[in-house]
Amino acid sequence: MNRTVELIIPCYNEEACIRLVYDAAAEVFNKDLKDYDLRILFVDDGSSDGTLDAIKALSGDERVHYISFSCNQGKEAAIYAGLEYSSGDYVAVMDADLQHPPAMLVEMLKAVCEEGYDSCAARRQSRKGEGLIKRAGSVLYYNIVNRMTMVDLVPGSTDFRLMTRQMVEAVLKLTERERFTKGIFQWVGFKTKWIDYPNVERAAGKSSWRLGNLFQYALAGLFSFAKHPLRFAVWLGVIGVLGSLVYLIVMLANGEADTGSMILFFIIFFGGFLMTMTGLIGEYLARIYMEVKQRPIYIIKETDITKGEKNG
Ligand code: UDP
Ligand code: MG
Repeated sequence: MNRTVELIIPCYNEEACIRLVYDAAAEVFNKDLKDYDLRILFVDDGSSDGTLDAIKALSGDERVHYISFSCNQGKEAAIYAGLEYSSGDYVAVMDADLQHPPAMLVEMLKAVCEEGYDSCAARRQSRKGEGLIKRAGSVLYYNIVNRMTMVDLVPGSTDFRLMTRQMVEAVLKLTERERFTKGIFQWVGFKTKWIDYPNVERAAGKSSWRLGNLFQYALAGLFSFAKHPLRFAVWLGVIGVLGSLVYLIVMLANGEADTGSMILFFIIFFGGFLMTMTGLIGEYLARIYMEVKQRPIYIIKETDITKGEKNG
């Protein structure tokens, strides 16, 4: 029996793209990927246009399935739902607007099926067509996130990714509400191959991202994985306390300890002290924050022990 490749496509107001992405995907599987069965799972993220009708219009093809949300809940939620409802041996997440060319699935499947990778993801080679500010912001962002968090984000990485069933199950174990899928894919580990492709313009319709969304997304990326922002307070506080003590010693040594300088010393000292205490509370908060996410403690890639015979 052929193995099934399932495409998860989150759609928000994409009525003009549904047919296009369906045709493009079907063509690839008719031509280059005949040895695999295709399954497409559209996740309609509460679209207000005719997206759902466009999807239902494809119901003649039994390879097409859909989930429709009660309202707009965001791409991250749509991806999670898609993964949860997926059943394919290999699962790919891709955008509806053809900015993630289905033709790349051929190379992605090769990496996973023949080259021993667990997943293959696309990386935009250039950001042609994007403004200078967006480009510079992106470079800065990746630098900060990679420095401040435990995950290493790959610059230019997209959400376009094919992965094994095993990796899907691992991703589904991270049940946190505030989801930053890009980081989650990194966090679960496994071997990923990155393939470069030139930036492609959207096939039809328009992008639903606003600058505000982008900002929120950036913050989600930073805060989902980082404890460092909370730790910052401790360091600032310690520097305040030590600085004020040095100031006091210098003052006393020079015999300049008048009322004004003493007040200044107390202000900086207690400021620093309070800041350190706030930071300590932050440290507990960070731990609680990580704990409430209830992430799996470990993710196994392989073992020769089957469940239930642990003591054997
Ligand atoms: N999308 C979604 N929910 C949203 C916003 C976007 O499911 O709230 C989908 C959208 O339909 C598309 C993908 O996420 O398939 C990427 O969105 P878009 O093309 O607007 O983003 P861009 O490519 O500009 O980053
Ligand atoms: Mg797009």
